[in-house]
Amino acid sequence: MSSIQQNIKDIISQIESAQQKCGRTPDSVQLLAVSKTKPAEAVLEAAQAGQRSFGENYVQEGVEKVQYFQQNYPELKLEWHFIGPLQSNKTRLIAENFDWMHTIDRAKIAQRLSEQRPSNLPPLQVLIQVNTSGEASKSGISENEVFELAELISGLPNLMLRGLMSIPENVSDYESQFAAFKKLADLKTKLAEKFPNIDTLSMGMSGDMEAAIAAGSTIVRIGTAVFGQRDYSH
Ligand SMILES: *Cc1c(COP(=O)(O)O)cnc(C)c1O
Repeated sequence: MSSIQQNIKDIISQIESAQQKCGRTPDSVQLLAVSKTKPAEAVLEAAQAGQRSFGENYVQEGVEKVQYFQQNYPELKLEWHFIGPLQSNKTRLIAENFDWMHTIDRAKIAQRLSEQRPSNLPPLQVLIQVNTSGEASKSGISENEVFELAELISGLPNLMLRGLMSIPENVSDYESQFAAFKKLADLKTKLAEKFPNIDTLSMGMSGDMEAAIAAGSTIVRIGTAVFGQRDYSH
């Protein structure tokens, strides 16, 4: 077995034990394998281990991988999630190539994605990115702006609002991690009362996955622990 395949096995069993520990039903948390900077061969190895969902941060790189797999391995039926920051002049590439978009943080991006989504594709599944820690450096909107943006997105024909995403402040103690995730989970519960398609919380990475799952995460985004360290030198 390759190391990527072994890593996926290990992470899936970590996800399962975290679910069990807090009494959540099996399969309520999905592993999103974050393949940014990694070559198509690494994605293929993961796919051969049964992994179907992949996350990308950079538009051009992500689109190249999506198209490569559509052309060469359509039978794998991979699902592609965009999880990076997006400029409004790049929305078309996301609308035309991806299945999910995790980082909507303003009306203009949402409107453009809906306008540019090809009519032969299902609606783009979208999440609103929330800044729960209030740090100026982090992207995402504040909690009190979420309802207004959700209202706008729910009126757009080619987007389906599925929930919330966040990248909380990097802290190592479990209690602080859990508190930040719980805030997002509570907000999602309130939002779901008004918007019935909301069922998704994209939160938790390699270092804080357990707290995220205990707080209600449904998608954990894991890069390094699946594919190894990233090399940004070229
Ligand atoms: C890179 C990235 C991840 C994965 O991070 P790792 O530390 O490699 O697991 C998850 N979410 C987002 C938004 C990222 O940009």
